Amino acid sequence: MKKYQHYINGKWVDSVVHGENIIVNDPATEEVVGEISCAVKEDVDLAVEAAKKSYESRILVDMPPMERANLMRKIAEELRKVSKEGGKILCLENGKLLPAAEYEFIDAANYFDYYSGLTDKIEGRTIPVNSQVMDYTIYEPYGVSAHIVPWNYPISMLARSLSCAFAAGNSNIVKPAELTPLSTVSAFAKAIDNAGVPSGLINIICGYGSGAGNDLTAHQDVSQITFTGSVKTGKAILHAAAERAIPAVVELGGKSAAVVMPDADLDKVVNSAKGAIFGQAGQICSAMSRVIAHKSIKNELVDKLANLATSLKVGHGSEDGTELTPVISEEQLQKIENFSRSGQQGGASAVAGGNRVDRKGYYFEATVFDNVQPEMTIAQEEIFGPVLSVLEYNDPEEAINIANDTEFGLAAGVFTNDVNQATRMASQLNGGQIYVNSWFTGSVATPFGGYKQSGYSREKGQEAIKSYLQLKNVGIQL
Ligand code: NDP
Repeated sequence: MKKYQHYINGKWVDSVVHGENIIVNDPATEEVVGEISCAVKEDVDLAVEAAKKSYESRILVDMPPMERANLMRKIAEELRKVSKEGGKILCLENGKLLPAAEYEFIDAANYFDYYSGLTDKIEGRTIPVNSQVMDYTIYEPYGVSAHIVPWNYPISMLARSLSCAFAAGNSNIVKPAELTPLSTVSAFAKAIDNAGVPSGLINIICGYGSGAGNDLTAHQDVSQITFTGSVKTGKAILHAAAERAIPAVVELGGKSAAVVMPDADLDKVVNSAKGAIFGQAGQICSAMSRVIAHKSIKNELVDKLANLATSLKVGHGSEDGTELTPVISEEQLQKIENFSRSGQQGGASAVAGGNRVDRKGYYFEATVFDNVQPEMTIAQEEIFGPVLSVLEYNDPEEAINIANDTEFGLAAGVFTNDVNQATRMASQLNGGQIYVNSWFTGSVATPFGGYKQSGYSREKGQEAIKSYLQLKNVGIQL
């Protein structure tokens, strides 16, 4: 079995404590992919110490912005180089399609390229006080930034916060999810190392969330936290941040709805659904997990969606032609089964799927539920699987009310050819991002984040850089 190591202070190392190993499985075959010694508090202390020392050395803070940008572009170049080898490991540990796994490294490179362009644009301003005072502001990094990363997009999501924190001059510690740490500690760390990133600026440790994750967010020398994952864990992290009065960026999932108006091109809805709820087996925070369809076109749309769901080819992520991949774990599969059962017991009709796939691995059928009522659990909770709930509406006000009636507000969308309806809906739907006539229209340059329980602060785009900077005001009596 291949053994992997943590990346601390520029070196690959085992946990200093000889204890448990984390075994990582392929969700498609249930076979072992590799193992890594489980990081514990002592490893967290070493990683934080390395980050703190590198921050205090001011090696990144004092690096001229152009040089920092060059280093980030070098990281991007190295990430592109490791995309094939890293993609292979990521495909195996996560279960996702191989091209999608490889693309995560390209996406990561895009983040480093994008934020390299901001290093020389972190500007303060001068403020008129009176003729005897010169007053100006400076943006400075927080110091040590902790990144707690989920298992659904281990490399993309890591890069989106890390690249930004790095551009701002912070030293960093990354904790990947215990289910998918291997591509991060191997290929991602290799790109960092090959790019010549000075020791201690980026450290990667893998342990359990309740162990190393908890120790990291509670550590007195961590000065900022970025977390993506469940609402429950996000709140625990916000408590840890509040305990020490440090800032946190939290992105906590959603139950995003697409409103389909009577004039919509239904094929656009179906094409979007393919990637937005069945792609990545639905394990996407901004998945299109609800469709709210006008009564006049609902039946036609449900037929089309059901045809799509039943036509998808189930397989291993590395096999050509695979369209539906497994979910991450047996636990996740059981959770999805329970949601599906509750939908059927509550009166919703599974017009496609509804059950686990009868084969080895953690596969769940691409599922479409018709006759879903707004108050049902499958219309309210984040299922994080390939399960789409279709609800019906009569007038636009009702559609908006149904769309907004969950605790989440990550994304929402509308399908219509009427630009007036589209802009009206875009202003009234609750969500950090609104998609019109498609889904996932954004890029590394577009700000992303949640309303309501989907979290706060923004990642991606120029707005995100402020999450990794604190403002200093300087007043000089002349
Ligand atoms: P969690 O939110 O529990 O985990 C996300 C990350 O946080 C992982 O790295 C995890 O580590 C870590 N973590 C867990 N507990 C703590 C803690 N106390 N302190 C610090 N870090 C911690 O998600 P799960 O993996 O348990 O998935 C549960 C549900 O969350 C899913 O079914 C899905 O609904 C949702 N989810 C949403 C995501 C999104 O993008 N919005 C992404 C992932 C999950 P470890 O994995 O080692 O426990």
